[in-house]
Amino acid sequence: MHGFWLAGHLGNFLTMTPRPAPHVIRWFLRTFGFGGITLPPWGVFILAERINETALVRHEQRHWLQYQMLGARRFYLHYLWYTIRYGYRNNPLEVEAREAEVSTA
Ligand SMILES: [Zn+2]
Repeated sequence: MHGFWLAGHLGNFLTMTPRPAPHVIRWFLRTFGFGGITLPPWGVFILAERINETALVRHEQRHWLQYQMLGARRFYLHYLWYTIRYGYRNNPLEVEAREAEVSTA
């Protein structure tokens, strides 16, 4: 799963400035224990109190890049399928986003 095809060499070229999560999304994030969520085509939403966490922002921005590469429909379908097939932690899109947290690639 390491080095997923979505080409780390594109790096953080295509980014989306994170926005504080509006209330319904905030409720969702808190209920399920997430710090942020990427919802193409609307944007990247992060809990207001965590919006300066670099790793979290990088993680969500990598999901945004995945959306840019796949398109919204395929992003959601891949995400859903990979989560069913591999589980949340081992979903290749999640593995890649976690790798991007600590990398400048
Ligand atoms: Zn993620």
